[in-house]
Amino acid sequence: MPEPGPGQVLVRVEACGVCRTDLHLVDGELPDPKLPVVPGHEVVGAVVASGSGVLRPTEGERVGVPWLGWTCGSCDACRAGRENLCADARFTGYQIDGGYAEYCRADARYVLSLPAGYGAPEAAPLLCAGLIGYRSWARVRDARRLGLYGFGAAAHIVIQVARHFGQRVLAFTRPGDREAQAFALGLGAAWAGGSDERPPEELDAAILFAPVGALVPAALRAVARGGTVVCAGIHMSDIPSFPYQLLWGERALVSVANLTRRDGEEFLALAPVVPVRTEVETFPLSEANEALARLRSGRIRGAAVLRIS
Ligand SMILES: [Zn+2]
Ligand SMILES: [Zn+2]
Repeated sequence: MPEPGPGQVLVRVEACGVCRTDLHLVDGELPDPKLPVVPGHEVVGAVVASGSGVLRPTEGERVGVPWLGWTCGSCDACRAGRENLCADARFTGYQIDGGYAEYCRADARYVLSLPAGYGAPEAAPLLCAGLIGYRSWARVRDARRLGLYGFGAAAHIVIQVARHFGQRVLAFTRPGDREAQAFALGLGAAWAGGSDERPPEELDAAILFAPVGALVPAALRAVARGGTVVCAGIHMSDIPSFPYQLLWGERALVSVANLTRRDGEEFLALAPVVPVRTEVETFPLSEANEALARLRSGRIRGAAVLRIS
């Protein structure tokens, strides 16, 4: 049983989302994890104890523990409101033990208040798929026609936000994945097809959630001049070389890294307004490896979530 230190809270975990980043961690694709480490950074639970100096959240409050677990607060990035880029940042389920557990300890300053009206498993995917999806989407919120590559946990949330703001969404899935394409169409996609297909219309922007480098030139090819391609994942296979012509015409290729607490507050205020409804498949904690295996093979509709207490 972990004990909360000064400034920390102890959370009894009710549910924890299973994110693709957890797969990258388990596969050794992320540098320098704390080992051993408890994965999981979409943690929903109730505060059951607090260390000294904690004013909020209060005991009994249901909170979310996201990926961003600690930042230095004094570097240039932190002082410029870009704490997501703090070089000394520590992340939940990576350098700090996370939520594949019955109890989880977190720095009280980084836990998020959750909107009412969500069950614990339904709230869990908001905390990374939703937050990173939101940060990625914010870069392209002015696009009229938005492509989403990889239609998993993040895309199924982002499409709801994009539709709420009147964007036309085109969804790209693994080639031949009719089930995911039907899922996207059911959530309001104007078109859904394989990532190997050219969309029927030019895009203004695209977000890549699939960790597949070959999709970068594919997405650049699909966006119009002046368009933006956002890479949302923490890890991606190598990007093949491509002709400069694909980037020329003021196309922009950017990545989005981590989240700020402000992203969390903004998105968790927006989610119930849309309202974002998450679709989850739940697994008991003892089947965490099965959940990861299913995620790896693309056999999850919406988001995978461990239901813990
Ligand atoms: Zn910093
Ligand atoms: Zn994540």
